[in-house]
Amino acid sequence: MHGLMQDWPLNCHRILDHAATYHGDREVVSRLVEGEIHRTNYREIRRRALKLSQQLTTHGIRLGDRVATLGWNTMRHLEVWYGVMGIGAICHTVNPRLFAEQITYIINHAEDRLLFTDLTFVPLVEKLKDALPTLEKVIVMSDRAHLPSSSLDLVPYDEWLDEADGDFAWESFDENTAAGMCYTSGTTGVPKGVIYSHRSNVLHAMVASLPDMIDLSSSDRIMPVVPMFHANCWAICFAAPMVGAGIVMPGPKMDGASIYQLLDEEKVTVTAAVPTVWLMLLSYLEETGSKLPHLERVVIGGSACPRAVIEKFQNNYDVDVIHAWGMTETSPLGTVCTLTPEYQGLKGEARLDVLQKQGHPPFTVEMKVTDDAGEPLPWDGKTFGRLKVRGPAVAKAYFKGEGGPLLDEDGFFDTGDVAHIDPYGYMQITDRSKDVIKSGGEWISSIELENAAVAHPDVAEAAVIGVANEKWGERPLLIIVPKKDVRPKREEILDFVRQRVAKWAAPDDVAFVEEIPHTATGKIQKMALRDQFRDYRPA
Ligand code: ADP
Repeated sequence: MHGLMQDWPLNCHRILDHAATYHGDREVVSRLVEGEIHRTNYREIRRRALKLSQQLTTHGIRLGDRVATLGWNTMRHLEVWYGVMGIGAICHTVNPRLFAEQITYIINHAEDRLLFTDLTFVPLVEKLKDALPTLEKVIVMSDRAHLPSSSLDLVPYDEWLDEADGDFAWESFDENTAAGMCYTSGTTGVPKGVIYSHRSNVLHAMVASLPDMIDLSSSDRIMPVVPMFHANCWAICFAAPMVGAGIVMPGPKMDGASIYQLLDEEKVTVTAAVPTVWLMLLSYLEETGSKLPHLERVVIGGSACPRAVIEKFQNNYDVDVIHAWGMTETSPLGTVCTLTPEYQGLKGEARLDVLQKQGHPPFTVEMKVTDDAGEPLPWDGKTFGRLKVRGPAVAKAYFKGEGGPLLDEDGFFDTGDVAHIDPYGYMQITDRSKDVIKSGGEWISSIELENAAVAHPDVAEAAVIGVANEKWGERPLLIIVPKKDVRPKREEILDFVRQRVAKWAAPDDVAFVEEIPHTATGKIQKMALRDQFRDYRPA
């Protein structure tokens, strides 16, 4: 027997309907590519998103068609998301920081029909356009006045939108219909397309907002510094309108001063980004002596959050760090480290030990760690193995079946991360499986060493890779970028790290560099470092 409840498909556009109806005046503030700060609200975003749906329909875009974006976080980009999804087309957020060949590859692979781009990327699109045969139109998310002269037939977004009279309703379709598309950034090979559904996005956003997750409410103003093209924007573009939280969109500027300006002037209460962004903000705060009176929580994920970052936010600025783990394939939030009653009483270093974990999963994410044979490992907080997850917002396959079947016989997805789980279900990543350093039969976590090094006051950024060693197979090499105007000594850094990690795991040498390469999503590019230091021999 079925239940006797109504059929009400979990469609993304219903989120915007709700926001416009019950939180219609809530502000959406954007720093535009053109420079100014723009203010609008959910009622207006919905009105314009509907016009966008109408225009797409007029252009012949239908259910299942792919529409690409190359854009920063702004209100126009948000309108495009909802407008595309609202007719059952698929919003493909392209990461503009990828290499040009990768961008060409994924737009062709996705067979995108239209492209919405910010002004910033017009030169890039001009360069690539001949190699993008499926693209029928390039719409620039700006007005006519800012449109550059171009070899392409560029369409100004605002004017194009105004061609629609707005007499339009969302399409209706099944909740399992594809809504968004995001390619993995290729840190692990050829980019592969992850396809979110309306249902997965709605469920994931609901779960992300829960008190033991990001704890989002209509009293919050959230600033996603994490770009909309990075892993579904960590749910924020769905979760904020769902609960009626205001949004502050940082546009193209992500340096410490610009981020600080918005946090302060727009009274942001919650924000989210990868650790690199927060290292820049903290440096800015230290240089200027500025404070963060409005900010309550900062979500940090994408790569391991250094202990020093958690400590500084907490002790110097009274801001709680929510360390989160996830990946494009998990929509992306898989775990967050908020403190459940078992850990709430902890103070000082013991509390920091827990806050450094990636945390516990919400309802809808199941988790296990297994050995290489697939046997589950104990939850003792130290036995580590392959991290696998299962749930309604976890990928079961990539677009066009690339990479073959993804799930094990119990339906779990292998994340490629190595982790342990403690008795209370808190997961801690020790490494990506390919970044683990295998030294004489022991596994050394590069993350643990990086965190230890970054706690040194003279270190701006640290990376650890395995370098070939005749006796041990591999040994860890510490690579650091010193802070501006300081020249720390080799032995001093090595001693500092030795005091914080097991003796056999401590690096034997340290290389000083001016810059560490980052991937398109702000992570340390270990592959490039391994190439750079391939022939390295310790001093
Ligand atoms: P890509 O795999 O293309 O770099 P993703 O954003 O999907 O892009 O990356 C997901 C990976 O990032 C995870 O599998 C994990 O290795 C790493 N990661 C994400 N969050 C954390 C975190 N809090 N701590 C450590 N690693 C993390």
